[in-house]
Amino acid sequence: MTLYIVATPIGNLDDITLRAIDTLKRVDLIAAEDTRHSGLLLQHLGIKARLYSLHDHNEQEKAHVLIEKLQAGISIALISDAGTPLINDPGYHLVKACRENGIKVVPIPGACAAIAALSVAGLPSDKFIYEGFLPAKSKARQDSLASLITEPRTMIFYESTHRLLETLKDMQTIFGANKQIVLAKELTKTWETIVSFPVNELIDWLNQDASRQKGEFVLIVAGYIESNKDIDPKAINTLKLLQKELP
Ligand code: SAM
Repeated sequence: MTLYIVATPIGNLDDITLRAIDTLKRVDLIAAEDTRHSGLLLQHLGIKARLYSLHDHNEQEKAHVLIEKLQAGISIALISDAGTPLINDPGYHLVKACRENGIKVVPIPGACAAIAALSVAGLPSDKFIYEGFLPAKSKARQDSLASLITEPRTMIFYESTHRLLETLKDMQTIFGANKQIVLAKELTKTWETIVSFPVNELIDWLNQDASRQKGEFVLIVAGYIESNKDIDPKAINTLKLLQKELP
């Protein structure tokens, strides 16, 4: 039958489309990342549905069960805890398996934190790259950032409360203190905050009030601008790393 990839809200429960609600009402089964969490959304929408658990750790194993159900004629909607499935959320293996088995996959678009943040950032949005979460370990994170020093497109990162400051400090080291960053916090929620600063000032701003570091974050980072290239940023970065080694 058909697999529907349905976007759900990223905070404000009103951010769900009429088509998403209709689809969730009509399908035979809803595959969800966290069935308890999604149960609350469905309850809010007045939808009684059969839920099936599909999360990162069991997706590959469970995808074939869902494929069999789809082949038997059942319609399924895939939702994640927030926003668009597959965007740093489960679904890739299932969608790939559907495509390989000739099963129709239909998108029901809606909220996505990356796109919501980009749409209000005021940084070039004609070309951008989505990097998701940076590696948790400092060395791997710095290596990842180093590969983006001369990236000309606007860059989108997701970050958690726990690593926000560490990540920004690494960005300051690798990209330079003046790199412009838009921090989009708690989008669509009560404490939604969107600020734009050079990275050194953003770190100061976050340190002024610990509550500013709490919540869910998207970082929109300005791309490298060729015309500002007085000194190659790679050279600046090398100098900074050398500086650290000096007594
Ligand atoms: N699938 C989701 C989407 O479409 O955006 C992303 C899921 S990912 C597991 C969760 C991360 O998305 C959070 O750690 C945060 O970086 C970002 N995020 C989700 N909701 C957000 C919100 N309301 N405001 C800011 N960032 C958010």
